Amino acid sequence: MTTLLEVRNLRKHYPIRKGFFSKQVGAVKAVDGITLSVEQGETLAVVGESGCGKSTTGRAILRLIEPTDGEIRFGGTDVRALNPEQLRRFRTDMQMVFQDPYASLDPRWTVQRILEEPLRTHGSAPAGELKSRVEQLMEVVGLSPYQAHRYPHEFSGGQRQRVGIARALALNPKFIVCDEPVSALDVSIQAQVLNLMQDLQEQYGLTYMFISHDLSVVKFISDRVAVMYLGRIVELARTKELFAKPLHPYTQALMSAVPVPNPGMKKERIVLTGDVPNPETPPSGCAFHPRCPYALDRCRTETPELREVDAGHQAACHLL
Ligand code: ADP
Ligand code: MG
Repeated sequence: MTTLLEVRNLRKHYPIRKGFFSKQVGAVKAVDGITLSVEQGETLAVVGESGCGKSTTGRAILRLIEPTDGEIRFGGTDVRALNPEQLRRFRTDMQMVFQDPYASLDPRWTVQRILEEPLRTHGSAPAGELKSRVEQLMEVVGLSPYQAHRYPHEFSGGQRQRVGIARALALNPKFIVCDEPVSALDVSIQAQVLNLMQDLQEQYGLTYMFISHDLSVVKFISDRVAVMYLGRIVELARTKELFAKPLHPYTQALMSAVPVPNPGMKKERIVLTGDVPNPETPPSGCAFHPRCPYALDRCRTETPELREVDAGHQAACHLL
């Protein structure tokens, strides 16, 4: 396998400013040192509770927001070293699908215009071919080309997300960050859109980073899973392995909180007590220790590093 994307020690801190002179008084450590790689053609899921930094990670990798620190290599290119013009051209390879297609699609534009726009700005289709290229994109995502003159509000939620996917595909990308792409959809529609995404992946050899808080979706779609907690990865493994043998107490808690069909897993329930802590003032040591039923003294003072515990199975926990 070839590695398409390599991320090392990625950080995104948002400054907190107060007072007349906007003096910086602290920082929200939304992403605080993420290291991962994504193989060509695979789906890496990023999972965790709301606010743990999943979207920030995805956006920082695409430089839709500027990272504070860290390294991003995509097919050998140092993404952080690209100047604005190089980045603009590079964007054709890396696209994003958003959770809420209603918010991410301009309501005043027809689907024709929405799908033409990336083709025009990147000059990747001659004017005479725009119409046929849009028709083709619509067919690829299971929409009828005769719907091209319609506006986003004239579609159902599932169809709107198909438009969002078509827009992401317009420039023949290699890599797509999918940020909760089915979370806003009815459960009955979710499977259809997930199946479409899998078909497209096979057909076009796409690589996905799939962000979700929903473990059953993750189990269905991904090859590997990274579990995030408060801006860091606490566990990373192949999907089968992670669901059969979750090692980190946080992963175990997430899995026992959600009824995921999983006959192999122990029935012991770990209840997550308390809220996700505030990333402005993360707990000392292991950020999970205030909610961890097994916390030791060491967990309060020393931050555990993500390390390989079993072959291809990484976790950040002093207990392992
Ligand atoms: P997730 O996608 O996992 O729900 P996010 O990446 O959206 O999490 O957010 C991670 C943390 O960063 C949250 O605490 C959020 O409030 C904070 N955050 C996100 N965007 C900003 C911003 N523009 N300014 C300040 N804090 C932000
Ligand atoms: Mg998010």
